[in-house]
Amino acid sequence: MGTCEKCGEVSSSFEMRDGLCKYCWTPEVVSVKQEIGFIWWEVWAWLGLTLGNLFTFALNGGVNMITLAVAIPTTILGILILKYNKYAFLIATILSLNPLLWIINGIYLKNRWNHPNVNKK
Ligand SMILES: [Zn+2]
Repeated sequence: MGTCEKCGEVSSSFEMRDGLCKYCWTPEVVSVKQEIGFIWWEVWAWLGLTLGNLFTFALNGGVNMITLAVAIPTTILGILILKYNKYAFLIATILSLNPLLWIINGIYLKNRWNHPNVNKK
């Protein structure tokens, strides 16, 4: 048994190919899956969860209402990004208020917007 990475359907192992069910498997999907990496995706999520939150606390004088109001959404977004939620990635990018990141992550996300990894149901 296996779960299709694209549609989430459970099929027998005989019907699975490259982690996809027989309905989702196409040469195009497989080539995209193999060529495009998600290293920055995970690094970006972990940076937000670790350094992002540390900076928030450091710049705003430790744990207080303001830092929690920033750190809690940051943490939720970070976890959602680690779950390959593309909307969380987009929101976190916008909220970074960093034009350089808007460009870098904007292009990065655009290239992955229809990727099966970020379109699981
Ligand atoms: Zn499928």
